[in-house]
Amino acid sequence: MSRIQKLQKIYDLHQKWTEGSSFFCKKGCDKCCTINIAATSLEAELIMNKIGQTLKKKLENYLEHERFMPKTTINAIANISMTDLDIPEEYIPFTEVKCPFLFENECMIYDIRPLACRVQLSFADCSKTEISEIDERTMSINNIFQQYTELLDYDGLSGNIIDLIVHGANPLFTSKFIENQTPRALMVPPEFQDELKELIQELNSIIRS
Ligand code: SF4
Repeated sequence: MSRIQKLQKIYDLHQKWTEGSSFFCKKGCDKCCTINIAATSLEAELIMNKIGQTLKKKLENYLEHERFMPKTTINAIANISMTDLDIPEEYIPFTEVKCPFLFENECMIYDIRPLACRVQLSFADCSKTEISEIDERTMSINNIFQQYTELLDYDGLSGNIIDLIVHGANPLFTSKFIENQTPRALMVPPEFQDELKELIQELNSIIRS
C-alpha cells in the first residue's frame, strides 16, 4: 500500500473513532476555516494530486497574509517532553482570512482535508460561543492520530498548508518548514491507555501494511 493510501486509511479511521459523538462540527460549517492550517508534506501531496493548476495558482495570492507557521510538530513535542528542554512556544496570529479551499462556505477538498481540520471538533456551537469545547478523551484520540500522521511522513516536513503546496518542492524555501520526527512515546494520559490500545493497534497495522 502506498503512503498516500495509508494516509487516507488514517483519515477514515479518525472518522470512525470520532463519529457518533455529538459534535457541532459538520460539513458546511466554516467557522474555523482560516489560513492558519498546518499539515505534513504527505498531506499536501495528497491535496496537490487532486486539485487543478488554477487552485494551486490561487494559493500564491495568500502568501501576502500573516499565517500560522508552526515551529514544532506534535512528535517533537512528545520527544522534548521526555527531556529537560523547553517546548518552543507557538505564535498563532489572529486572522480573518478564510481558507483558500472554501467555496461558497463549503470545503472543496473535504474528503482529503488535512488532519489539522479533522481534529477541530467541538461540543459547543462555536458560532455562538466563540470558543470550542472538547473533552480529554477526544483530545487524546486526536493526539494519537496527529502523531501517526506525522510518523507516516517521518522523512518529510510540516508547515502551513499554503506554503507546502506553493513552495513544497523548492529547496529555497525549506526554512519555512520543520522536519517531521518519529515519536519516542505517544501522548496518551494513563486513564485512556487501556481504552485506546485497540486504536493504536489499528494505526500500527496501517503503518506496517
Ligand atoms: S481545508 Fe477545508 S476544512 Fe480545512 S480549513 Fe480549509 S476549508 Fe476548512
